Amino acid sequence: MKKDIAYYMRRLYRQKLTTTSGGNISTKKGNSIFITPSGIDKGEMQIEQIAEINQEGDIIKSPYQLSTETPMHLSIYKSRPDVCAIVHAHPPYATAFASSSKKLDSNLTSEGRLILGEIAFAKYALMGTQELANIVAKSSEHSNVILMENHGIIALGRNLLEAFDRLEVIEFTAKMNYITATLNIGKPLKQEQINEIDKMNSSSK
Ligand code: 13P
Ligand code: ZN
Repeated sequence: MKKDIAYYMRRLYRQKLTTTSGGNISTKKGNSIFITPSGIDKGEMQIEQIAEINQEGDIIKSPYQLSTETPMHLSIYKSRPDVCAIVHAHPPYATAFASSSKKLDSNLTSEGRLILGEIAFAKYALMGTQELANIVAKSSEHSNVILMENHGIIALGRNLLEAFDRLEVIEFTAKMNYITATLNIGKPLKQEQINEIDKMNSSSK
């Protein structure tokens, strides 16, 4: 678990999906939650830097300060028992949509629709607060990918690969939204094509 978290955090940085200080990752196994620390270089994250806490937030082992977004991760695990991995970051294109009034359309490509489904929007609250945790947990009830207003993105999955993939796909989708809007050539999927993809998604669960 800890090895995977450190690996995906370095991969997130390498892919330019987060900054040195931004973003956090957690996974859940049984009653334990493993989460990245705060204030540590995210591009060089190591296995021994990852903390273990329980679902109430009590520290089992934490060599550094816990991620400031620990309340948000805990609240999502409470409202979505099927979720076992959470990736949060501030990738530039998707965060630009989270910081604007322009809608981010996941229906531009089949991959976007299949991997992201409906994207949720969580209203602004100060980072690291229980208020933000409550707002995001509410949005997570009906979506696996959430735009956090004037902040960033949070992606959920049954495992780390699925959550990471969703974060990466939302950034690619945001880039495609930007390109097609800039060139004024956007042509999203038709409703019947969306329905066909949604069926694929529900049959794979
Ligand atoms: P942490 O480094 O405390 O996890 O915070 C980063 C972040 O993205 C805050 O929203
Ligand atoms: Zn953040």
